[in-house]
Amino acid sequence: MIARTQHPVEGESLQNQLPSWQEELSRAIRQPRELLEALQLPAELLDGMNQGDQLFPLRVPYPYLSRIEPGNPQDPLLLQVLPSLQETRQVPGYLTDPLQEQQAIAHPGVLHKYHGRVLLIVSGACAINCRYCFRRHFPYDDNNLSTQEWEQALAYLAQDSSIDEVILSGGDPLAVNDKRLLWLINRLEAIPHLQRLRIHTRLPIVIPQRITPELLQGLQQSRLQKVMVVHVNHAQELDTPVRQALKQVQEAGVTLLNQAVLLRNVNDDTDTLTKLSKQLFSAGVLPYYLHLLDPVQGAAHFDVPHAEAVALVKGLLELLPGYLVPKLVREDPGHPSKSPLL
Ligand SMILES: *Cc1c(COP(=O)(O)O)cnc(C)c1O
Ligand code: SF4
Repeated sequence: MIARTQHPVEGESLQNQLPSWQEELSRAIRQPRELLEALQLPAELLDGMNQGDQLFPLRVPYPYLSRIEPGNPQDPLLLQVLPSLQETRQVPGYLTDPLQEQQAIAHPGVLHKYHGRVLLIVSGACAINCRYCFRRHFPYDDNNLSTQEWEQALAYLAQDSSIDEVILSGGDPLAVNDKRLLWLINRLEAIPHLQRLRIHTRLPIVIPQRITPELLQGLQQSRLQKVMVVHVNHAQELDTPVRQALKQVQEAGVTLLNQAVLLRNVNDDTDTLTKLSKQLFSAGVLPYYLHLLDPVQGAAHFDVPHAEAVALVKGLLELLPGYLVPKLVREDPGHPSKSPLL
């Protein structure tokens, strides 16, 4: 062991030197002024930042911050996290609960909307606050399930043999610690009709140290087929530590997919989306969904109209192999699936 610490093998060296994911969570930037200074942004942004911050707090961990170009107020990663005055605008049709998810809740923490798969809200917390997120209006942070509620959720899965896939979601399901997560995965494995375990998470992108040896081991050992759906909107989010983390996940026998949100000024052109698909694939990730923005209050300035989105994806079809073109979808309340738009 001592020899290994002195001469760390390739791949381990980086992880050992970095702060843990919990440390990164706790030292994340939460003050608009701090973000301004860290990125040498113009001081006149501060007033708008403060107003946006009051509606949905700023939260940016350092590993993500390090991929933002200093001094560039238009950086596509910055725009995803920068609170702004535009969020205070009321726009007709933009709602606080655009997906009307309350109706699909079977038990606390259990969303059963689609045939065969059930979504569990494992944690309401996220490592980062994305300005366009529908989650911005929920007091998710204090919404974790009690042990009794977990037992009820598991009982719900066990009594319905038409369910063969469980989706761990949130917030971000990887915001809970490995012990809790592996406990849950263990309990799911004991339900015979479950075949697939899917994890919807942005955490490995935001803080790649979240991919711990314990988590990898737990996933590798599971009898379930594993899918991880990450959330990357721009190729610049994929730096070397993120690529290394994704590679480890893949080596643990997990299929990697990506969902992105089509966002004005972030990824709303064929060049950016083409590059995203290619860079994802080079990191072992297949593009899965490209979502139209949910019409959530405070996010209207990110909207790309339906017709423009369709034209963009048609452009992608002409430039990329079919497997690198994400499905353009929108979520319509009450529908039995996501709605394909092409
Ligand atoms: C999006 C979603 C799913 C997953 O749908 P897929 O098309 O299988 O990716 C499942 N349950 C809920 C509640 C969802 O919102
Ligand atoms: S749920 Fe996803 S999109 Fe929303 S804030 Fe969390 S990481 Fe960002």
